[in-house]
Amino acid sequence: MLYICTSCKYLFEKAPEAGRCPDCGRFAVREANEEEKAEYEARKKIADDWFDQKPPSYAEILSQIKYDSLA
Ligand SMILES: [Zn+2]
Repeated sequence: MLYICTSCKYLFEKAPEAGRCPDCGRFAVREANEEEKAEYEARKKIADDWFDQKPPSYAEILSQIKYDSLA
């Protein structure tokens, strides 16, 4: 189940405590519609892709240093 706060547009999966938005604390929470669910999934995918990116290895960083500029 996905919920949205109509006040601050915060989307969240957990059932709201006493109907309050976990972000702004207002009582403006309702179930998200299909369009809002799709947006939430799209945003989550972007975040997942970003986390999957591996940082460059030490060797890669070393290979990019231009020793000429240090002389
Ligand atoms: Zn809110």
